[in-house]
Amino acid sequence: MRDGKYEAVIGLEIHVQLLTATKLFCACPAEFGGEPNTRVCPVCLGLPGALPVVNREAVRMAVLLGTALGCDVRRRSVFARKNYFYPDCPRNYQISMFDKPLCENGVVELDTDDIHSRIRIERIHLEDDSGKLIHQRGGGSLVDFNRCGVPLAEIVTKPDLRTPAEARLLVKQLRQLVRYLGICDGNLEEGSMRCDVNVSLRKPGESELGTKTEIKNLNSFKAIELGLEAEIARQSAMLDAGKVIEQVTSLWDSQHRESVVMRSKEEAHDYRYFREPDLEDLVLDDELLENVRSLMPELPGERKKRFIDQYGLSDYETVVLTAEMELADFYEEVAGLTGDPKASSNWVMREVMGELNSTGRDLGNLGISPQGLAELINQIAAGRISGTAGKDVFGEMVRSGANPGDAIALLGLEQLSGDDEIADMVEKVLEASDGEVKRYREGEKKLFGYFVGQVMKMSGGRANPSKVNEILKKLLL
Ligand code: ADP
Ligand code: ZN
Ligand code: MG
Repeated sequence: MRDGKYEAVIGLEIHVQLLTATKLFCACPAEFGGEPNTRVCPVCLGLPGALPVVNREAVRMAVLLGTALGCDVRRRSVFARKNYFYPDCPRNYQISMFDKPLCENGVVELDTDDIHSRIRIERIHLEDDSGKLIHQRGGGSLVDFNRCGVPLAEIVTKPDLRTPAEARLLVKQLRQLVRYLGICDGNLEEGSMRCDVNVSLRKPGESELGTKTEIKNLNSFKAIELGLEAEIARQSAMLDAGKVIEQVTSLWDSQHRESVVMRSKEEAHDYRYFREPDLEDLVLDDELLENVRSLMPELPGERKKRFIDQYGLSDYETVVLTAEMELADFYEEVAGLTGDPKASSNWVMREVMGELNSTGRDLGNLGISPQGLAELINQIAAGRISGTAGKDVFGEMVRSGANPGDAIALLGLEQLSGDDEIADMVEKVLEASDGEVKRYREGEKKLFGYFVGQVMKMSGGRANPSKVNEILKKLLL
């Protein structure tokens, strides 16, 4: 806490919706959407006699995630029934994992300018998603079971976080990771990644944990921070007033920026967990583990370090350029083709990202390829066009999909570097500026810039500035 009276203790449970083609235990499509209740079958509706079969792709993705987080991966894990009643779950139980989860004991390093922490991952397990309730305005609710059985990997952290900012950063890093791994699109707003936060307070220096509360429905980075801040403030006011904290689960209402108590917290034994009798132990064979090893990409943290070493970029540049794998790949290709990592970084960070942000498009349909951008940078380096003209050329490339050569020709921006051509213009400018020339020769040297400007203007901005300088100096002697 800011006043140092209490220390916040925070642990997160993050559900990652895996991008498999089909659901976790049946062949229904797992893709988001569809007419309500069209992507269902006896298995995901829990009809009597229907038997689940584990989706190997979901297992592979969860193991990939666990391995990337440095977890111990269990060769033999066990599915368990988590029993509860709620209308979004037709089976009245969720198939999850309990005492033998797929992955355990991982770690995430948070390392920025102002946050340096090591957050332990308690476990990652596989489970199936519930359906969706749609509450009607006039009262009553409808239920859509399409999402029933969609595979989730749940990441549970140890209570190692101490501030809302750390919690937000952790989710941000996990989001980046699952996107790098290609196992989830990480969309918090749409719920393909969902974060529940647990928080308690204690006096600084105390080692025992206080009673925690849980907040669900934090569907943006901002909501995670605001929700935690509000809950920390609420709990500290309670403690100040000598009240005890009750273990409750709340829902975050982002509109009113407050959490609303949903239920008093259930304990694990309330769920009557027991081994899922319809599924055998989940055994990982060598082939799957080998497959995971071969699929592991260079992870964001490693890539960041390499960008600093290999390209001499700043910390800030590497954070931006490695935020998304596609952008990092794009940058590396441009840098490789130009041999100029710094110029490539500038162009990607300013023009490419500016264009991405202003159009809302993504790299795939921006209309500019790494080859195109590299060629443009090379044309500037070769002096064929000026850097300023390069920006117009870039704009034209994005607009029409033209290659740099055609865009330069189309815009008539080719830089004029011919000595005679420039000397011609310089002479014309000097002839038209008798007065200035006289003053210059009498010692008013700052007029030099004026002459340069006049020549540039006459050339429509296309004259090579260093050539203009050189020739002006000669003729003004
Ligand atoms: P539950 O039985 O309520 O699911 P768990 O022990 O499984 O509780 O922990 C769920 C999450 O809450 C984990 O992320 C864990 O780190 C966190 N957590 C557990 N106890 C506390 C506490 N006293 N204060 C803050 N977070 C906690
Ligand atoms: Zn199904
Ligand atoms: Mg738990």
